[in-house]
Amino acid sequence: MSETGANRRGILLVISGPSGVGKSTVVHALTERMPFHFSVSWTTRKRRPGEQDGVDYVFVDRAQFLENIASGGFLEWAEYSGHLYGTPRDAVLAHLDVGHDVLLDIENDGAGQVKNSYPEALLVFILPPSLEELERRLRDRGDTSEADIQKRLSVAAEQMDEATWKFDHTVINDQVGIVADEIVSILAAAGGS
Ligand code: ADP
Ligand code: 5GP
Repeated sequence: MSETGANRRGILLVISGPSGVGKSTVVHALTERMPFHFSVSWTTRKRRPGEQDGVDYVFVDRAQFLENIASGGFLEWAEYSGHLYGTPRDAVLAHLDVGHDVLLDIENDGAGQVKNSYPEALLVFILPPSLEELERRLRDRGDTSEADIQKRLSVAAEQMDEATWKFDHTVINDQVGIVADEIVSILAAAGGS
């Protein structure tokens, strides 16, 4: 049985996978299965319809982002598809310290940085059933421009190639409920909630 409260340090669970594979959908399914703190990232990309500032991301301009890099405010950060994304350091560490499990939804380079600075982190990569299905999901979501879809697909194959050696676990998002259950089991095996 795992310890709880301040005696137990939380588990840092990093979820990555190509854009459109279903990371946000799986994270949502996880909220119904287990308690965790979701780390809200900063980004310089534009807000999509339906996204809320401070909930989905903290939307900032490039100058604000660069300032936060300079002051050491990020646990990790990366440039992806022409935009900057980063994980605020203090909130993540504060939650881990009081025993909360913390979930990051970040791309591959950031996941690698987290593993380097925090080797206990658990890295899970979500694969699509096929590249065709990935493209269909990205397109059907209907909130990403054609040029951006092409950019995201062009890095997807490379990200997927890295999955087996860079990540602790890979799961296939065929059915959301099944992949969420798999992630709950992975976390439980590591001593999480
Ligand atoms: P990501 O966060 O990885 O970019 P999203 O969670 O936004 O991906 O999902 C991309 C699209 O794929 C959404 O329209 C979502 O409803 C759909 N989707 C997610 N998981 C599945 C699944 N298992 N089967 C079919 N469609 C899915
Ligand atoms: P999107 O623009 O579709 O929301 O996200 C694009 C990519 O950026 C996704 O792979 C997502 O996981 C990643 N991402 C989101 N937040 C962060 C972050 O804080 N750091 C890093 N490195 N990647 C992030």
